[in-house]
Formats: sequence, structure tokens, C-alpha cells
Amino acid sequence: MPYSLQIGSIPCHIVSDGRQLVDGGGFFGLVPRVLWERVIRPDEKNRIPVQMRSLLIQSSAGLILVDAGQGDKLTAKERRIWGMDDRNQRLAADLRRVGFGPEDVDIVLMTHLHADHAGGCTRWVDPTDADSAAVPSFPNARYLIQRIEMADASFPNERTRGTYFSQNWEPLRRSGRLDLVDGDQRLAVGVRTVTAPGHTESIQAVWVEDGGASLLFLGDTCSWAAHLNRLAWVPSFDLYPMRSIESKRHLRQQAQEKNALLVFQHDGQVVTGRLVQGARGVEVRPEITEEAWPLVGGQ
Ligand SMILES: [Zn+2]
Repeated sequence: MPYSLQIGSIPCHIVSDGRQLVDGGGFFGLVPRVLWERVIRPDEKNRIPVQMRSLLIQSSAGLILVDAGQGDKLTAKERRIWGMDDRNQRLAADLRRVGFGPEDVDIVLMTHLHADHAGGCTRWVDPTDADSAAVPSFPNARYLIQRIEMADASFPNERTRGTYFSQNWEPLRRSGRLDLVDGDQRLAVGVRTVTAPGHTESIQAVWVEDGGASLLFLGDTCSWAAHLNRLAWVPSFDLYPMRSIESKRHLRQQAQEKNALLVFQHDGQVVTGRLVQGARGVEVRPEITEEAWPLVGGQ
């Protein structure tokens, strides 16, 4: 279900490509399960619900979509492994719920190119044909990708090759829709990106700011609220854990100064929240939460 918000005069919508079930150890890294299961209770296979949220911004530069989810190119077996249902076009359905279609998107901003963010950039021309070609899912959009992320994705290593797949970006390059960018970008009035290394070398977060209000879409710089409450909690997926901690410290400080609305991309429960002074120090007070998987109470 999408959530629509207004940041000053800028309408924003939190949309979703659905949910995966992922081993809890992936997101909680070195943290013992007895600690993280107080935040999110895993199922009998140790899996936790992981949302694939995107941010849609009605900006002065047109309609901006931040990340594109997993998309529909997985096989039935891969969907089973990831605990996904068999619905297609999940993100497109959410876009329609807030009044838009894939053809209306002007800019697709990729925080990074991991498969659960970039898979939805492209789709099979014919989903029933395994030899079908992949084409851009958002036919009229420019796709913005950091040059360093593109290089890392193009030459994956033993650790990253399980999540970087060229079918997610080659069709963009072939159709001339891919724009490589370097460093922080100003995309529109009140919309800018910041690179915040850790999860990958050049991963980006997105700020929306207008009329004294601000929103921070954290992406995988901090994908769960619990990881902002405890800076030492870093996912196993992060390539550079110490840099993740420093990036989180920096973003948290800025978000606190601006009283920003935080949007968590993967958190199974907390969709948005704001920083407050709590018993343990600065912590996230949830505002919108997912009803399907209630809070355990250990945020
Ligand atoms: Zn990622």
C-alpha cells in the first residue's frame, strides 16, 4: 500500500515492489539473534520480512522514482527462494494507486545496483519466453547511476557477483537511457542526493527539502530503523562496515538537526520515523508502521 506525504510544496509517495523473506543474519550481521529477535521475530527458517520500497517525488524536474525494486525477471524457483508471491507488476500497481504509470516517470535514480533495487529497471518483453529480451521498464525515463557503482557492478567479485546482473542495466545502456553521474547531485528544486559509502562504495541517500520540512530516504545506507538506533548494527551485506557506521553517524546528525522524516527502505515494520531523544540516546520514533508484521517492542 502506498503512503502519500507532502514535504513543503513537494508531493512524495512511498511505493513498494513488495516483500521478500531474507535470512535475519544478512541484515543483522554480527549481532547475536537473541538481541535482534527483540526487534523483529524471524519465522521458523530464520527469515525476516524485507520490504522493497521506492520513493516517488513529484518534483520541478518531473516525476522522480528512487530505485525500482526486484522486478519480475526472477524464475519461479528464485521467487520461492526469496519468499516472494507470484504477483507481477507490483511497483507499477502501486504507482497506479497514486495516479501514475511507468510511462510517466521522467528520472529513475538508482541508489545502487544490487538486484533488489535494480531488477525492476528492466523487464522481459515476453514474460512467457525464457529467451525474450529485457527492455527498460520505464520507457520515457533517464536512469541515473553513479559511475563508480556502474564500474563495480560491471566487474563484480566473488562477494558481489550474486547481486549484480547485467540484464538489469545493459538494456538501459543500449537504449541510450543511462546517465552516469559523479558524486552528489541536485536533481530538482529541493531534491538532492548524497553519497554515503559503506553498503557499497558510492551508495546514495536522497534528501527532499522544502519550506522548512525535510525527508531523508536512507536506502541501504541504513535500511532498518534499528540500525540507526545502534550505529554498531551493520548488515552483513555492507562491503565497508566501518564506513557504514561513519556514514550513519553523519546522516543521523543531519537528520536530527533538520527534524527530518526518515524513510526506511527495507524495514519490515517501520516505514517512516523521526529522531527523538530517548532513554538510550538519539533514537527513531516510528510514525508509519506496517500492520502486517507488528512491532515486537524492542525498537
Ligand atoms: Zn544493497
